[in-house]
Amino acid sequence: MTDRNHALFERAQRVIPGGVNSPVRAFRAVGGTPRFISRAQGAYLWDAEDRRYIDYVGSWGPMILGHGHPAVIDAVQRAASRGLSFGAPTEAEIELAEAIIAHVPSVEQVRLVSSGTEAAMSAIRLARGATGRAKLIKFEGCYHGHADALLVKAGSGLATFGHPTSAGVPREVVQHTIVLEYNNLTQLEAAFAQHGGELACAIIEPIAGNMNFVRAQVPFMHRLRELCTQHGALLVLDEVMTGFRVALGGAQSLYARAIPGFRPDISVFGKVIGGGMPLAAFGATRDIMSQLAPLGPVYQAGTLSGNPVATACGLATLREIAKPGFFDALAAKTRRLVETLSASARERGVAFSADSEGGMFGFFFAEHLPQHYGAVIASDKERFNRFFHAMLARGVYLAPALYEAGFVSAAHSDDDIAATGAAAREAFDA
Ligand SMILES: *Cc1c(COP(=O)(O)O)cnc(C)c1O
Repeated sequence: MTDRNHALFERAQRVIPGGVNSPVRAFRAVGGTPRFISRAQGAYLWDAEDRRYIDYVGSWGPMILGHGHPAVIDAVQRAASRGLSFGAPTEAEIELAEAIIAHVPSVEQVRLVSSGTEAAMSAIRLARGATGRAKLIKFEGCYHGHADALLVKAGSGLATFGHPTSAGVPREVVQHTIVLEYNNLTQLEAAFAQHGGELACAIIEPIAGNMNFVRAQVPFMHRLRELCTQHGALLVLDEVMTGFRVALGGAQSLYARAIPGFRPDISVFGKVIGGGMPLAAFGATRDIMSQLAPLGPVYQAGTLSGNPVATACGLATLREIAKPGFFDALAAKTRRLVETLSASARERGVAFSADSEGGMFGFFFAEHLPQHYGAVIASDKERFNRFFHAMLARGVYLAPALYEAGFVSAAHSDDDIAATGAAAREAFDA
């Protein structure tokens, strides 16, 4: 093979496990050779062969403005020229914290970290420290980064303790993690009835983007909030993907509209708030956050936390997306994409369902939108994989796995959406 992507993949595999620094990039789920990206601009990626793709991955969510947005690049360059890292506080960190708090009423204080994994892990420790309890609930199919206690799948039977999903995670480390089916009220009631008094928290992706795109139903979220409150457990919303992506106020702003008084106790952010640089955050009320060191007994730290270049990048991104009309336009465009894909599938008689919120979308080769992980994995994987490759060959870069949400950016034009629809029609034919 003379393809440069192929040559790079061979070379990468000699020095990097699987040739990648994060497993999904290896294309194992869909097969074939990953594209090595040489550059990106606006809505497009170019691979090592200089082939152009319309990008619906957006670095898995952060690139909400598209690649190389001038205001963001300018902010990054100016910050870099003032110094890459100080290990001391900066004014920009205050500005980013203020910007996050301004848009998310449940959050009075935030702490900045460098990855979503770190943020979710710290949020769990904070919940445990604040409640003095050990157990936690997570939901199957939700991903909260790769901290040991969260790499857990359901055991057999109802509301049992989970099993590690990774080697290297001792059973003892996950013995406090209870794994429940997403959107399953019966399991939820049973778990709280049995363990309510020992629960530090329940952590959930409000719109689960790590099993493609599955919304927590409003009555389910409502009941989860009630049960947490009744039993003195904290509700942790993992908005690493949905925060500043489905709406300026995150998915919690949507649930707050449907459920009077709805607020999570702790929120976790990442992806968009870093604008493409390594940055994430967790936040809560001042009362809960004061449990953290140096004020309180819960230890948490980071050499590069609040890094000035990453902070400048995040701040510039948040300023752009806070402009009036930004989310209305993004949501309309994303809906158009989903509609054109659905219409193409319908014309071809392909079983297909799709959904979107703000700049995030998902689609399934299934008649109805799945409500939990079991239904997601029951959708037609072979068909997805064929569709993925057919789209890639036509210059459309979708997430290389059926379990992943898709993302539209402000840089995607109507022509890009139309071209994607045309590619999909050809792909369904093929
Ligand atoms: C991406 C993601 C994480 C992990 O973030 P990293 O920056 O990859 O560590 C955690 N939770 C959710 C919901 C995510 O989508």
